[in-house]
Amino acid sequence: MIPVLIVLNAGSSSLKFQVFDMVEGTEPRLVWKGLYEGLGNDAHFVVRHASGVDLDEKSWTSKDSFGHEEALMHLVSWLREHQEGRKPMALGHRVVHGGETFSGPVLVDDTVIQKLEALVPLAPLHQPHNLEPIRIVRRRMPGMPQVACFDTAFHHSQSEIASMFALPREMRQRGVRRYGFHGLSYDYIASVLKDYDPHLAKGRVIVAHLGNGASLCALKEGASVATTMGFSALDGLPMGTRCGAVDAGVVFYMLREMKLTPEAAERMLYTKSGLLGVSGISNDMRMLRAKAATDDNAKRAIDLFVYRITREIGSLIAALGGLDGLIFTAGIGENDVATRAEVIAGLSWAGLSLDEIANRSSGPRISSGSGPAAWVIPTNEELVIARQTRSILGATQAKLAS
Ligand code: AMP
Repeated sequence: MIPVLIVLNAGSSSLKFQVFDMVEGTEPRLVWKGLYEGLGNDAHFVVRHASGVDLDEKSWTSKDSFGHEEALMHLVSWLREHQEGRKPMALGHRVVHGGETFSGPVLVDDTVIQKLEALVPLAPLHQPHNLEPIRIVRRRMPGMPQVACFDTAFHHSQSEIASMFALPREMRQRGVRRYGFHGLSYDYIASVLKDYDPHLAKGRVIVAHLGNGASLCALKEGASVATTMGFSALDGLPMGTRCGAVDAGVVFYMLREMKLTPEAAERMLYTKSGLLGVSGISNDMRMLRAKAATDDNAKRAIDLFVYRITREIGSLIAALGGLDGLIFTAGIGENDVATRAEVIAGLSWAGLSLDEIANRSSGPRISSGSGPAAWVIPTNEELVIARQTRSILGATQAKLAS
């Protein structure tokens, strides 16, 4: 019997999953990955083999009231039918916010759930959806170990100063500070840097996680020293639909002068801004690139995105005291040749220089010359969750055995 881990990433109407074989002494090995979309409405399930081959799919209509609980139960029975000598040992969950309390992954119990619920006000749009499958599994499969893995935890290595806002002290005591996100992605990049460039693993590196959500992280010897996201996942770079950093005065203007409710203001900043808001066309970089030659608004949205990335990299170079390498990752970072070229062109002052041919084939090394190196490294947040879940499980079993 091969023990397996199930990794879950739950959103408001979606549930992404990956299933990993756990073979002693090797990395968790991906077997299947899939997705439930349109939960609570017209839901759709698709699952692929690790090789990319489609294995199965199914749809439900809104009459079936197929939500997160039904999806989880469907997944369990799908796994039972296809398990081929495998046995689920634990679930690892992506949880956006671990607050000040959780500086690493944690085995879930009732006290942990209470602590995670107390963090909902810090991430009201994401945390409740992340917690829902944890509660469902606790109710429907009470003996199944579950591990919560946090997007914030990787940034606990930052100094107090790097994590502060210049607000009155009592605000910090309420937990109002910079947390930073995308930590599972940065953890993965830090873990594989030595395989690409051993010099960088010990050096000053900026990782650009450029996807629908986007942020930058400054790594010194593999540890986070600064990042562009702060208290919430709104801060820093413009994103697909999120605004990135705006003057807090804009929010007062929206509430006081425009008479928006806090919910309407929040909706605008999270879902109607960024590439979508500026272009008025789409949050999808592929679409904007296709239109940029003929549409000024598409071009302006991309130009602002690249300008903000370049400026924020300048700020992180100051936080690091120099730069040895720049890593591009996530959907845009891994695939958009033009964004990489434009960002590197904007950093020629820092000694970066592009190898155009390598860039066209995604390198992985895309820099030339003797300045800082630039690499394209695909991220793998689910593998980090699988690794963390296994290590918590191992530690728990060792404690029980002693
Ligand atoms: P992610 O959130 O990491 O899945 O990234 C999503 C973003 O990556 C979207 O803006 C996509 O348009 C962008 N993306 C994915 N593939 C490509 C591609 N081949 N070229 C340009 N952008 C891409």
